[in-house]
Amino acid sequence: MVTRTPLMAGNWKMNFDHLQSIAFVQKLAWTLKDGKHDFGAVEVAVFPPFTDLRSVQTLVDADKLKIAYGGQDLSPHESGAYTGDISGRFLSALGCRYVLVGHSERRTLHGETDEICRDKVAAAARSGLVPVLCVGETSEDLEAHGAAAVPVSQLRAALEGNDAVTELVIAYEPVWAIGSGEAATPEQAQTVCRALRETLAELRGDDMAGDTRLLYGGSVKASNVVGFMREPDIDGALIGGASLKIDEFSAIVRYRQ
Ligand code: PGA
Repeated sequence: MVTRTPLMAGNWKMNFDHLQSIAFVQKLAWTLKDGKHDFGAVEVAVFPPFTDLRSVQTLVDADKLKIAYGGQDLSPHESGAYTGDISGRFLSALGCRYVLVGHSERRTLHGETDEICRDKVAAAARSGLVPVLCVGETSEDLEAHGAAAVPVSQLRAALEGNDAVTELVIAYEPVWAIGSGEAATPEQAQTVCRALRETLAELRGDDMAGDTRLLYGGSVKASNVVGFMREPDIDGALIGGASLKIDEFSAIVRYRQ
C-alpha cells in the first residue's frame, strides 16, 4: 500500500517582494481553510525568494499554518567567502523544510552542472533540509535520446557518493514544458517518473524508492493537474506561473475536491 502524501509546491521564482509574499500566504491560508480542504491530505509548500523567507516564517509560526516553505537554491558550502550565496544552515534556521536543487533555470542561467547539483544535494542533507532535485530534458535531448535518458542520468549524478542523503523529492520538469504553456501529457510524465523511481530502487532499494515523492512540473495548472495526479508514479506538482495566482494555486491544492 503506497502512502505517499501528495505535495503541491509553488516555485515563485523571482516574483513577490516580502510584502507581496505576506499578502499571498495570508490569502492562501484563508482560501484553503475556507473550503473543505484537509491539510493532512495534501502537503502545500511555497518557494519564495530568499528575501521573503523571514516574513513567511513569521506568518506561518504566528498562525500555525500548515504551509511548508523552502529556498530556491543553496550554496554547496557551509559558510565563508562566497559573496551572494546562501548556506543551507541559514535556510534551516528560518524553518525551511525544503530547498530546490538544480532547477533548469539554475542549470542554464547559472551554469550549474551535475557535479554542482550533487554537492548542493549533499549540503541540503547536511543542513537537515529535504532537497527537491529538479531534473528534465530539453527538446533537443528529447529528440536525440528520448524523454527519460537525461532526467535519469541527472538523478544518478546527483546521488553518486551521496549515501547520507536518505530523503529527497524529485521534480521531473521537461525544460520545454516550463513556462511554455505546453505541458507534457500525463502518460509522458508517468513514463519518466516510473523510470526515475526504478532508478532510485536500483540505487537505494525499494523502500526509499517507494517512499520518495516524484513531482511533475512544467505548465501545471488547475485544469490539467488531475490528469497528472491520476498517474501511479506522480505524487504532486512543482508549479511556477500558476503558483502566483491565488485562485489557480488553491484550486491545484484542492484538486481532489
Ligand atoms: P511553470 O514553471 O509552471 O511556469 O511552467 C514550473 C517550474 O519552473 O518549476
